[in-house]
Amino acid sequence: MKIFPVRGGIHPDYRKELTSEKAIVPMPLPRKLYLPLQQHIGAPAEPVVKSGDMVKKGQLLARAQGAVSASTHAPTSGRIADVAMVTAPHPSGLPQLTIMLEPDGKDEWAELPQPLADPFAASSQEIRERVAAAGIVGLGGATFPSAIKLNLGSQNKLETLLINGAECEPYLTCDDRVMREYAAEVIDGARIMAHALGTAKIVVGIEENKPQAMAAMSQAASAFPNISVVGVPVQYPMGSERHLTQAITGLETPAKKLTAELGVVVHNVGTARAVHHAIRFGRPLLSRVVTVSGGAVTEGKNIDVPLGTMVSDLVAFCGGLKEPPRRIVNGGPMMGQPLPSLEVPVVKGTSGILALTADEVNERDTQPCIRCGSCVTICPCGLVPVEMAAFIRKDNLDGAAKLGVMDCFSCGSCSYVCPSHIPLVHFFNYAKGRLNEAERDKRKLERIKTLAETRTTRLEQQAQAKKAAAAAAAAARKAAAAASENPDNKASV
Ligand code: SF4
Ligand code: SF4
Repeated sequence: MKIFPVRGGIHPDYRKELTSEKAIVPMPLPRKLYLPLQQHIGAPAEPVVKSGDMVKKGQLLARAQGAVSASTHAPTSGRIADVAMVTAPHPSGLPQLTIMLEPDGKDEWAELPQPLADPFAASSQEIRERVAAAGIVGLGGATFPSAIKLNLGSQNKLETLLINGAECEPYLTCDDRVMREYAAEVIDGARIMAHALGTAKIVVGIEENKPQAMAAMSQAASAFPNISVVGVPVQYPMGSERHLTQAITGLETPAKKLTAELGVVVHNVGTARAVHHAIRFGRPLLSRVVTVSGGAVTEGKNIDVPLGTMVSDLVAFCGGLKEPPRRIVNGGPMMGQPLPSLEVPVVKGTSGILALTADEVNERDTQPCIRCGSCVTICPCGLVPVEMAAFIRKDNLDGAAKLGVMDCFSCGSCSYVCPSHIPLVHFFNYAKGRLNEAERDKRKLERIKTLAETRTTRLEQQAQAKKAAAAAAAAARKAAAAASENPDNKASV
């Protein structure tokens, strides 16, 4: 299959060798699990349990609310200790409502939905409902509810389901291991998703630095002529949906558009495996594979972790820290988020926990821009980071918006190559936050204005109706008075 060139991109020190040969091991159940009600993009789930309830493994703990949301289930059996605020796995360190579960050690399953006897005879809606009921979200880190993405065929003419096995972030090897160890499950989940989407073709894109994953996936897909397993160049950020789509199809996704509009839907390999579990066994999403790595951790591992496990328990399972980390990161070093502490839980979007040393973080003093243009050459979105940053420095966010700052997906490539060590991506994250906030405020004001106009119109209509009623009543009174003064009037009419 022809692979098309993708603009920009970098080749950071991948350091995947720290964990790539570490087979996935199960994490023992910790003493307590912490399950935030928002582990996904969209509205937080609504708890259906309370403190003191006994629950079984796989039981629903919090139900999805609204159009975009995801349910949460008990990763094991035990007692609900509390529903309270706990620090979220986010740099803000802000707390969010969280269900705390004390395992009882029995790991006793709840009654699960009957598996679908033949998923390929089921309707798209039936598959989507089961995927939604299982609380599955994009496990590549995007955490968008998968059932919604499986409905993209209703509004777009889809041709290809693209399974993302690129895993371009340095250090992370969890997808590599999933493909090597569970290739048949990933392929089965992909076939079920393609059936739900109505796509004839499935392409699995894997970066060429994962030859064993390529071999395992090719072997698992060999019985299905509609599935191609293809190698893509090792080039960060190849794992972004848009860039992988471009490499596979040659088509560039326009700004503010979805790849679905080009006929392509992208799902991560871990998501495909979770769909296999939900449809074939009725199992909700209860755990995920996480890479623990970095120079400060005693032993890097790939671990199947029950959701809600504290990062401190995970790190302890890896032998603890051998030196104080300069930074703890949730995800990869390029696009991951620094964590405020180890006392935050693993959630559905946690692909990696990195404990990085000062050498690995490589923080350097910022120097003035030398106008070298490296950031422009490297930007995979064709943006002009140096100019956008100049506008943001002058607090001219509209100027940055005109240059396309909202199309920046924070890959960090520009910061990485900048010889003056300017933290360009921080500027863009700041600007995007402010612009999003301004857009929200604008929409809120427009809503208030519309409501006020509707109210004014309603009050005017009510006043007019009242006036008309008063005039009619006055006329009726006048007629009645006239009739009573001259009783013959009625007869004479
Ligand atoms: S962080 Fe944004 S501006 Fe910088 S290279 Fe990536 S997409 Fe381009
Ligand atoms: S890479 Fe850094 S120094 Fe070079 S133009 Fe961009 S911001 Fe300036």
